[in-house]
Amino acid sequence: MRYFYILISMLVSCSLQSEIALPDLGRPATAVLSQQEAEKIGASVYRQLQQQQLLFEDAVVTAYLQKLGQRLLQSSPYERQNAQRFTFFIVNDATINAFALPGGYIGIHTGLITACKNESELASVIAHEIAHITQDHLQRRLDAASSNQLPLTAAIIAAIVTGRGEVSEAVIASAMARNVQQALQFSRDNEREADSVGIKILAAAGLEPGAMAHFFQQLSSQSRLYGTIDGSSYNFLQTHPVTTDRIADAQGRATLLKQEGSQSNIKRNDDEAFAIALIRTTLASGTTTAVKLNLFTEESRPGRYARALLQQQQRAFSEALSLITTVVEEKPHEVAYLLLYSELLQQQGNRQQAISLLQQELTLAPHQFELGMALADHFIDLPDLAKAKTLVTTLQRHHPDNLALLQKLAQIEGLSNNPAAANLATAEALILQGDLFSAYRHLLVAQRQAANDFYLASRIEAKISLLKSSKEISER
Ligand SMILES: [Zn+2]
Repeated sequence: MRYFYILISMLVSCSLQSEIALPDLGRPATAVLSQQEAEKIGASVYRQLQQQQLLFEDAVVTAYLQKLGQRLLQSSPYERQNAQRFTFFIVNDATINAFALPGGYIGIHTGLITACKNESELASVIAHEIAHITQDHLQRRLDAASSNQLPLTAAIIAAIVTGRGEVSEAVIASAMARNVQQALQFSRDNEREADSVGIKILAAAGLEPGAMAHFFQQLSSQSRLYGTIDGSSYNFLQTHPVTTDRIADAQGRATLLKQEGSQSNIKRNDDEAFAIALIRTTLASGTTTAVKLNLFTEESRPGRYARALLQQQQRAFSEALSLITTVVEEKPHEVAYLLLYSELLQQQGNRQQAISLLQQELTLAPHQFELGMALADHFIDLPDLAKAKTLVTTLQRHHPDNLALLQKLAQIEGLSNNPAAANLATAEALILQGDLFSAYRHLLVAQRQAANDFYLASRIEAKISLLKSSKEISER
């Protein structure tokens, strides 16, 4: 199978020569994608989804997903061999699906989150996708033909993943697109391995290893009964056919792990954190679904939180405020609850109280990202730009290479009439997103603007010379 595949890709690079780009003839046709190339493709696909506004960029849910993903990775026996950065993100799509991209980018559909009953079920799908990456299923299959044309490969992947995109019909119909599509469709062996490794990761992280089989079973019986839920198709089943064999396999593996005693370190699901993520995701996709899921009926903390969020959406601020007050009294350090509390205080005209609440919590947890960002926004609105800048630069020390912080800093510098510093921060954000050429252009502008500021000018110089040595800039 492998040889056949290489042969196809050699044919592809020959036939596409005239249309797209000249393949690098010095490179052996068997060469696989390097880690660096894989990261470039993944980052570029991610950037395209972001630019097309297809992502669900809720700070609370994204932070939860990152935390869950990191918990799985830290327990993964494969992490050390594959020391690489993982980025977990959420795609605004009601279909039940998840996918792994080259370079450690893992996308989870909102529809998958709302289909899960508990944290272990969600984790089981994430662990499965992590396994596709740690076991190198993608890199092995995207070969030299793709590495000759990284931007095109990324554009094709983005179009496949989203079902739309900025690739022409001709490209989509091309042999190269078919080639990439084939590479994204894992073999049965890949799927079996991802299940088996995924379940081990799940157990090692102290989650319920039986959750994968349970989730598969649920999906398969629901799809038999209804075909679709809310008009959305079971995408995960299309890319991950759930056969009775597969469910039995997953059950068998979980039982084996339990007998081996790996179960002894089972910690509880973080039900409350999962419930908060579920509530936010469901409410963002429309209240009707939330009502169907009975999210508002419970008197539990998450139930009251859900009702307060709904009341906030309906602008019933004072009812929402009294409800969230009872929740915060019971659990005073939960970020999601505090954020809603401070938002409602502000919406009721008590900005100073909202600020004090955030400041108070940040003295206990000075590097808490979501609360820090919320406070920075208050300072920007006031405006107290000096305080906003101090806060953001403090957060940056503990969250280096954070895109949102760089963008926030660019905004603050712009508002403070420091165009050179604003352009520098924008350039750093663009570098992080892999858009080196736009970054370079911002740096050239910043260089002219910083002519009288020796310290800033030398920082800009340093970035410019760093970029000049990169392939993208030097070849342009
Ligand atoms: Zn899979």
